[in-house]
Amino acid sequence: MVNETNITNLLDLDLKGMESFFLGLGSKAFHGRNVFKWIHKHGVTDFDAMTDISKRLREQLHQCAEVTVPQLVFEQPASDGTRKWVLELQDGQRIETVCIPDDGRNTICVSSQVGCALDCSFCSTARQGFNRNLTVAEIIGQIWVASRKLGTAPSNIVMMGMGEPLANIDAVITAMNIMQDDLAYMVSKYRVTISTSGLVPALNRLREVSDVSLAVSLHAPDNELRNKLVPINRKYPLEELIPACREFVRGDKRRKVTWEYVMLDGINDSLQHAKALIRLLEGTPSKVNLIPFNPFPGTHYQTSPADRVEAFRMRLKRSGIIATTRKTRGDDIDAACGQLVGKVRDRSSRELRLDKLDTIKLGIS
Ligand code: SAH
Repeated sequence: MVNETNITNLLDLDLKGMESFFLGLGSKAFHGRNVFKWIHKHGVTDFDAMTDISKRLREQLHQCAEVTVPQLVFEQPASDGTRKWVLELQDGQRIETVCIPDDGRNTICVSSQVGCALDCSFCSTARQGFNRNLTVAEIIGQIWVASRKLGTAPSNIVMMGMGEPLANIDAVITAMNIMQDDLAYMVSKYRVTISTSGLVPALNRLREVSDVSLAVSLHAPDNELRNKLVPINRKYPLEELIPACREFVRGDKRRKVTWEYVMLDGINDSLQHAKALIRLLEGTPSKVNLIPFNPFPGTHYQTSPADRVEAFRMRLKRSGIIATTRKTRGDDIDAACGQLVGKVRDRSSRELRLDKLDTIKLGIS
């Protein structure tokens, strides 16, 4: 991002961008690679601490570049080890990043927008409305902060925080390049997951340029019900979405689409729904992740009873579909899906409560 004073935040650049930036300065591409490594591998943001960069180049960088990371304003650990980080952006907006440790591995749940425009009826973020897209620096900044806090790069990254990543696809692609880069966080394509409600054209574009893992918020096995739960389905119905997802994982036997399916009491959780889901997914390499609904104030939905979730899961399993039930984590610190996170200030400086921000939705491995 170039601000009014023509200062480039180097956190906005992937390796290719960094190399061109340095070439543009009349310097060499390999200096760009070194600075990229300093920032992401070593967490160094001060040019003067980058010891293999000449004094002249450092002075030049001071004139035209900066490394600005989101400010960590609040940190809270939960009794189950989940950690929630509230980050403040340069314009005062706040976002949340969540870290879920499991068996020595850390999964980081990353936000892509402040708010969300998609209006899924069971999602608390939808009620907050849409505020703005995050920049590359703000997306990768969440991983930068997480890596500093953990003392190591994350093992898994899921784009499952606030927002619809495919509605901010350019910034998300660049940020995901940095997540995977050997000179940065080195997270493999199988361990970076983008979660989408199903923006088909953007999904097709993503397929051309990236091979990260795909999770899709399905939540219903037919158009009539999905239109109600995930309204973007009216624009991109199942007969377009399912083939686009199948195409996304084609050609690599290790890849499967992860279907997220929130279990809503009496709405989408019967054995008939399970059977319809099995038919729908026939021919697509799939795993299904059942998510117990996280209620929030004002919602008319309720969580399906645990035995119904289990019966649904077993029905899928019997037909050969890998099906898991997502553990709810971090609920004692309001870090589970759809729980309170803090406050967000929008451009008109209204204070909006983020009882909305829906963050931890895991179970992807
Ligand atoms: N917009 C993207 C990513 C963010 S949401 C998407 O739609 O995939 C991550 C997951 O949490 C989605 O599957 C979403 O449908 C689910 N989710 C939203 N609200 C929830 C709630 N109250 N309880 C449980 N899961 C929820």
